[in-house]
Amino acid sequence: MQDKQIEKLIKAEAKRQSEGLELIPSENYVSEDVLKANGSIFTNKYSEGYPGRRYYGGQDFTDQVERLAIERVCKLFKCKFANVQPHSGAPANLAVYAALLAPGDTILGMDLSHGGHLTHGHPLTLPAKIYKFVGYKMKNIETGEIDYEDLRRVALETKPKIILAGFSAYSRNLDYKKFVAIAHEVGAVTMADMAHIAGLIAAGVLRNPFQDGFDIITSTTHKTLRGPRGGIILTRDNEEIAKKIDKSVFPGIQGGPHMHTIAAKAVAFGEAMKPKYKKYATQVLKNAKAMEAVFKKNNVRMIGGGTDNHLILADVFGSLGVTGKEAQTVLDEVGITLNMNSVAGDTRKPMDPSGIRFGTPAITTRGFKEKECKRVAELMLLVLKNKDNKKIKDAAHKEIKSLAKKFPIPKRFV
Ligand SMILES: *Cc1c(COP(=O)(O)O)cnc(C)c1O
Repeated sequence: MQDKQIEKLIKAEAKRQSEGLELIPSENYVSEDVLKANGSIFTNKYSEGYPGRRYYGGQDFTDQVERLAIERVCKLFKCKFANVQPHSGAPANLAVYAALLAPGDTILGMDLSHGGHLTHGHPLTLPAKIYKFVGYKMKNIETGEIDYEDLRRVALETKPKIILAGFSAYSRNLDYKKFVAIAHEVGAVTMADMAHIAGLIAAGVLRNPFQDGFDIITSTTHKTLRGPRGGIILTRDNEEIAKKIDKSVFPGIQGGPHMHTIAAKAVAFGEAMKPKYKKYATQVLKNAKAMEAVFKKNNVRMIGGGTDNHLILADVFGSLGVTGKEAQTVLDEVGITLNMNSVAGDTRKPMDPSGIRFGTPAITTRGFKEKECKRVAELMLLVLKNKDNKKIKDAAHKEIKSLAKKFPIPKRFV
């Protein structure tokens, strides 16, 4: 690269990514092919509109790329319509809200303190300023079971136009059929925000909400799905809804699509159809179970009592007397990256909550199996229990570095 300042930073980041262990459950390592497509000359091209209906000339190849991406993602998720243009997960959600709602309409989603995402009604977001959000919670924090009776009660009372299933900090499976039944009762559209678990659904190791009658799925493409940073909106079979969504994405809230990203999405969707990817997704779940077992054995409280997916939310303050922020910092010192997280019913502040959230998508891409994941969980607890003991921390750091070296991240081209 000519730009030495930026080149140096890319190299430093590559070193950081390869030497440490990434446990943030929303992160992953893309393949070299995804990276190549994402860094391709499609970034030069303007292609406002949709395949066959563009506002600029020169669309022979952009049209083919976008059609391939749509075809592949529809096959992957077993649906009829897809919009692959959203720049990321948050604009994908906004586009659905804007497509189907009028200002002031109500959306019923998972309460943020119980695992819902910012875009599901955090007061600082634009959607929360335009629409009214009401929430449902877990009935029992120790099992993670959703309070479906209360969900129904709130739905009957507030008449939401959208009932939203999905989360970014919840580790159990949802009963999609119950959501659909309640939505039918109140005449709401069902939307599943599968940003975290889309890859696990695509691989068939977690249930597909479309199978139970959901109308819409939104997702990011960069979490378990292991594609470039981006978003998608899928519609099961309702053409009217799909058309509204297309208009809402463009010209509603976006301009020209990022065709280089769409090319990279198409590559990732292709990869997710392969048997190798199913093996990956299966291993992600096994690895999370291996980590769960270590936490269970050490009596560390997990929200929901454990995990059915790729992530664990652990109450480290309640169980070990270490705050979420302290845990994040001390684990970072030994080469493990994860994030502090509020837990349901948390009495501590969001900037220093009681919990940590971690998961297995990235380390599984590196090739970790149950044995290595068990060891990582043991090292995490050892460090958390001895956070002021330099000798123990140094030894743990050394072991983590050697694990990282043994399982290199996919080949880079910087
Ligand atoms: C990550 C996430 C998003 C937002 O995705 P961005 O790409 O960060 O905009 C939306 N919903 C859920 C459930 C998520 O986990």
